[in-house]
Amino acid sequence: MPAIRAAVARATGQPLELLDLHLDEPQPDEVLVRMVATGLCHTDLTVRDTVVPPALPAILGHEGAGVVEKVGAAATGISVGDRVALSFASCGDCKACRGGHPAHCASFIDLNMSGTRRDGTSTLRHEDGTPIGGSFFSQSSFATHALAHASNVVKIRPQDDLELVGPLGCGVQTGAGTVINVLRPAPGSSLVVFGVGGVGMSAALAALAVGCTTVVAVDVNAERLQLAKELGVTAVLDPTTDDVLAELTALNGGVDYAVDTTGRATIVKTALEALAPGGVLALHGLYTPDGEGLDVAAIPAGKSVVSVIEGDSVPQTTIPALLALHEAGHFPFDRLITFYDFDNINEAIADMESGRTIKPVIRFPA
Ligand SMILES: [Zn+2]
Ligand SMILES: [Zn+2]
Repeated sequence: MPAIRAAVARATGQPLELLDLHLDEPQPDEVLVRMVATGLCHTDLTVRDTVVPPALPAILGHEGAGVVEKVGAAATGISVGDRVALSFASCGDCKACRGGHPAHCASFIDLNMSGTRRDGTSTLRHEDGTPIGGSFFSQSSFATHALAHASNVVKIRPQDDLELVGPLGCGVQTGAGTVINVLRPAPGSSLVVFGVGGVGMSAALAALAVGCTTVVAVDVNAERLQLAKELGVTAVLDPTTDDVLAELTALNGGVDYAVDTTGRATIVKTALEALAPGGVLALHGLYTPDGEGLDVAAIPAGKSVVSVIEGDSVPQTTIPALLALHEAGHFPFDRLITFYDFDNINEAIADMESGRTIKPVIRFPA
């Protein structure tokens, strides 16, 4: 078993603790990856700080990039030395997977959030042999090495920068995939994004990339709105100073598409009202009631609401597409990233929580 260094989530609200652990050898359908970079995503903190599984202590991290060091005998198409992104796992065999929607996999929770492999065994152990929760999104990428399942490994091109690939496996893919795979706006459409953190900003950039000519960013963070403007959004609104609904309604009778990344029911209500007839609202995240539930009467005129997981992405398709868009200059997601050394992962978490950093990416020592 290789010795690795991992950031262990021990308890709600507590800093991660860097520890030396042992990682199993790959099983036949697994791949051992030396991590180069991994993005931090709010889901990591949701798991650390709520009852969302896996149980703690555990090694989180679910959007990695690295180099393949070992390949199980049944992991076909992947070779030692391949440069890869890690994304979510799916069974490949349920109705959703067979229909090309692995983010809706019937086994999504089991495969990504159980803390163990599919067979219930642990991939990670303390030095004294005690098992510890791992296999988060079939990777647990907050570590110098990760064991992934062949299904959640995405080969990338030699020219792709692995440090930039770090955040693609979940947050960036979720925001951009929502636009590219789910909303599929026609060129010339209008789209508003509520909350321009990593997911929301990725959605806004994707909307610009596919030809939306009106893209509005709504946030209370002035620095984020400024960056959104620099990256090409056509208008920014701050709900503390602007009448968001009035401004959006003034746009030719409402917006064609809305993306909510805030998880707040009151904002969902505004988003629904701001839609033009026939408009579509995409929802992310875990919604908790905040005083005003979803009013179905606010969904008239052919409007619709869709809940989106992982941008409804097939990672092996969406991640290379985003890298190609980036290379062509149409998807500058690198501007969202702030890099941190692995030893400073808790600083990265603090900066994400405070809103100082949009998308922290952890770099591992070479
Ligand atoms: Zn499935
Ligand atoms: Zn995520």
